[in-house]
Amino acid sequence: MSSFVVALDVGGTSMKGGLVTRSGEIIHTDRRATPRDRGPAAVVATIRSFIDDLATAGDGTPTGVGLAVPGLVTADVALYSANIGWRDVPATDFVPLDVPVMLGHDVRTGGLAESVLGAGRELSDFLFLPIGTGIAGAVILHGEPYGGSAGWGGEIGHIPVFPEGEPCACGQIGCLETYASASAVARRYSARATSSAAPALTDTVPTASPTASSPAIAAHLATSPAPASPVTVPTASPAPVTAEQVAALTASGDPLAMEIWGEAVEALSLALATYTLLLDPSAIVLGGGLAEAGPLLSVPLAERLGKRLAFRDAPPLRQAALGMSAGMLGAALLGWRAAGFADAGANWSPDVLKSPRVA
Ligand SMILES: [Zn+2]
Repeated sequence: MSSFVVALDVGGTSMKGGLVTRSGEIIHTDRRATPRDRGPAAVVATIRSFIDDLATAGDGTPTGVGLAVPGLVTADVALYSANIGWRDVPATDFVPLDVPVMLGHDVRTGGLAESVLGAGRELSDFLFLPIGTGIAGAVILHGEPYGGSAGWGGEIGHIPVFPEGEPCACGQIGCLETYASASAVARRYSARATSSAAPALTDTVPTASPTASSPAIAAHLATSPAPASPVTVPTASPAPVTAEQVAALTASGDPLAMEIWGEAVEALSLALATYTLLLDPSAIVLGGGLAEAGPLLSVPLAERLGKRLAFRDAPPLRQAALGMSAGMLGAALLGWRAAGFADAGANWSPDVLKSPRVA
């Protein structure tokens, strides 16, 4: 039995665990629900028992443990997570074994994995940008994720892109995440589909039109043709629309979907132009659910980003390589680093990356 580390990617709804050997082989994976609704102590207890079960599956004592967790975090303490509700949890509280442990921020740990093992393997400086329920970035400088002075670095999802725009759940106005996250794309499509279809359903509603919530969006709407074809999403009791469905509608030429998609691309191009001018990345690595749309996202985004930048080239956009496994693989790197193997991952073969994805 070769030595292994326990790697755990703790998300708001589920946890992905794995056992990863010194050569990068994933010998076991498992997942478990995050019992967020039962409070932070229950989440910590669940993590402890999950790590115990994973170690048991490995048939031996792990060499180290690495955890990717949300919120503010140092290598030794999970300082704060609004999502889970914990404060100042020492790394050792998560681990029922007397082995070295290292914590990492969830997105930055995924970025570390992309840097060492994935799309950024040949790159020194890049942005890892997972676009999912929210948007966060891992700023990779000299191959390592950079968290800033206090751990707030990389919150590109809350860069204001339309300052007179829609309120964000964070308390600010017009954040990138409000327009371009997968959930924002789905929510904005549903809202506008419902509002523009309302007159047809109830004669009492006067001429409702898609409401523009910001001058920038209003200007955009003013130059865009009104939806010419019926929206294919039911509006009487709207079924939840996913970003994937909006992407499919965009690809099929649905005007409203193209509108929403275009605004997401516009928002992303603004934020990425800012990032590019500040940090001169050699690439931008797109990940998360929205990036699954592939060229539907990357082609117009590259074009708009290029047009925004007048005196320099735009960095190339790349697709993330590790998918949903990035956080777990990054946690494995942290586990090996905790055990004293700072070069972990350097000689893991590309075949390792074809290991089965975490279920
Ligand atoms: Zn925000």
